[in-house]
Amino acid sequence: MIAGNLPEGRPSGQGNSYLTMPLSTNASQTLNSAEGHPQSPASKLLIVGAGFSGAVVARELAEAGIASKVIDQRPHIAGNCHTERDDETGIMVHQYGPHIFNTDLEDVWKYVNRFADFGPFINRVKATTSNGVFSLPINLSTLNQFFGKKMTPAEAKVFVEGLGDKTISDPQNFEEQALSMLGPELYETFFKGYTRKQWGEDPRDLPASVFKRLPIRFDTNDNYYNKKYQGIPREGYTELIRAILDHPLIELQLSTSYQKTMSADHVHTVYTGPIDRYFNCSEGRLGYRTVFWESETLSGDAQGVACMNYPDPDIPWTRKIEHKHFAPWESHPQTVLSTEFSKETGEQDIPYYPKRLARDKEILARYQALAGQEKNVTFLGRLGTYRYLDMDLSIAEALAAAENLKRKPLI
Ligand SMILES: Cc1cc2nc3c(=O)[nH]c(=O)nc-3n(C[C@H](O)[C@H](O)[C@H](O)COP(=O)(O)OP(=O)(O)OC[C@H]3O[C@@H](n4cnc5c(N)ncnc54)[C@H](O)[C@@H]3O)c2cc1C
Repeated sequence: MIAGNLPEGRPSGQGNSYLTMPLSTNASQTLNSAEGHPQSPASKLLIVGAGFSGAVVARELAEAGIASKVIDQRPHIAGNCHTERDDETGIMVHQYGPHIFNTDLEDVWKYVNRFADFGPFINRVKATTSNGVFSLPINLSTLNQFFGKKMTPAEAKVFVEGLGDKTISDPQNFEEQALSMLGPELYETFFKGYTRKQWGEDPRDLPASVFKRLPIRFDTNDNYYNKKYQGIPREGYTELIRAILDHPLIELQLSTSYQKTMSADHVHTVYTGPIDRYFNCSEGRLGYRTVFWESETLSGDAQGVACMNYPDPDIPWTRKIEHKHFAPWESHPQTVLSTEFSKETGEQDIPYYPKRLARDKEILARYQALAGQEKNVTFLGRLGTYRYLDMDLSIAEALAAAENLKRKPLI
């Protein structure tokens, strides 16, 4: 059984390149190998993964009186949303890359606010290029600064339309789509090098649909996500997920990798790990991009903003993250700056971004067919369905999956 409705699922580039690997600080020593509420009454469910997807299902079922055991192969909860205060500076560090909660889903916003106090945060991404520092997504201020003009919104719209390459009537890939809409100068400055670094693919090999989702604004709105509800939990995502998991009917076991034999002790399994690995990659490996970080502690303010992108192709990193700016309600004399590098996912790497190239989709279809035959397993979440999912959609899909499970007579 596969949860969710399988949209395209790829983060849409600039300022949205959620990439990572643990910092070299103390990422792995957060929790004991078993905690929560051990020995909860005979858990009917086995939940693989203590990220948002697994935690929300466990909580919903627990509130319906159904016990579950949650396992995670990592030594901490919260999956890729894991946050931890840096020992030296006290700064909350987003260990697997920056996470900004953004949603238009009122129910999901209410849900997370049950478990954590959120501080307001608006992501205002900047890009350092060889021509200067600009605001992203491309908006009226970016256009006026880039072209040295004083355009009104209406003038800018006409101007940008005039930049597009009219010889491309039916764009077949990311590059053609970008050129047809923006012309070469904006495309090469902001998108070409960044996309190549982020995905390790020539933009001509990426679908046009990825570019179509990138916002270009003709007002000065630089609110990246532009969603109704946005914020960051003041004590971090790990505390939020710890609160979700804190229920007498939830048993938590960390540093535990899933083996199929474990399912035999449970009526049903909810699997939020990579779908290809569940089937021992029998149909081939699905393509993921992964990232790694180099972090440094500095004094003062390193870049004045939380996210700085580097689209130039000659610069090996994709962006720099300054963690303390994700918590503007805090004040720290020092700063932790993390530089992000993107690469292909090797066997030992943590998979981050589903690439979803044509080959991947063919392989995925075969895994989906196999998953459909697993009657007592629900595949859920970012990895279980091989889609890029923001946190709000992961939660919404986990809530829906829990409702389905509650209706199952075997439970
Ligand atoms: C770097 C990065 C930045 C992001 N930034 C944002 C953002 O700003 N805003 C936003 O809304 N979303 C963001 N996202 C998306 C967000 O991380 C996901 O929506 C969320 O993590 C999905 O939760 P999940 O539980 O499905 O997956 P995960 O968080 O990946 O949890 C899956 C868990 O399963 C465990 N697991 C896997 N295989 C096994 C196994 N065999 N045995 C035991 N355990 C296993 C893993 O260790 C992991 O803890 C970002 C994603 C990434 C990668």
